[in-house]
Amino acid sequence: MKTEEFTLSESEDAATFRENIKGWVSKSGRFFGDTESSERLARYDGCTHIRCECGELTEKTWTRCAECREKGRHERWLQKPVGEWDGEGIIFSEILNDYLDADEVADKEEEFGPLDLVICDPIKLGHIDDEHLADELCLEDGHADLPTHVADAVEALNIELDKMKPVTWCSGRYRVMSEEDSTPSISK
Ligand SMILES: [Zn+2]
Repeated sequence: MKTEEFTLSESEDAATFRENIKGWVSKSGRFFGDTESSERLARYDGCTHIRCECGELTEKTWTRCAECREKGRHERWLQKPVGEWDGEGIIFSEILNDYLDADEVADKEEEFGPLDLVICDPIKLGHIDDEHLADELCLEDGHADLPTHVADAVEALNIELDKMKPVTWCSGRYRVMSEEDSTPSISK
C-alpha cells in the first residue's frame, strides 16, 4: 500500500480549485478521473451491490452470491481426500460450522441432512522434555542435566500426559464419505 505523504490542511497542495474537470464521479461524490479503469472504480465506489456471475445480486463485500459461495465451499469439501472416522471424539460440520460428537452428528443429520463432515485431529498436551527445561535454565547445549529422580518424574509425567484425553480438536484434511462419491457424474 502507498504510504501517505505528510500534508497539512493549509498546505498549498492539500486542495486545488479546478474548473472544467472531466471524468467519472461515484454516487458518493468521489472523483475517479477519466482513465481506463475510472468507470469501473467509480461504479464500485458508488454501489452497494454487484451482480454475481450467475446473475444473482450480492453485497459488494463479496465477489459471489451466497448460493455460489456455498456451492464453491461444497466443491472444495468434495475435493478433500476421504478418511475413515472412528466415531470417537469430535468431528467438524462445514454446513453447521460447528464441532459435533457422534450423538450430535446423528441428531443433526436427521434435522439438516448431509453435514459435510471433516474429520478432526486431536490436539494433546505436548511433552516436557530436555529442550524445554534447557530453555528455561538458559543452557546453551540444549540439554538439562537433571538429577535422576527429577528425570524419572519428567518421564512419568509425559506418560500421564499421553494418557490424557485430547484437550481440543482441530478440523483436519480428511472428510467423511458422501452420497455423491457413488454418483461421479455430478462431480463436475
Ligand atoms: Zn451466484
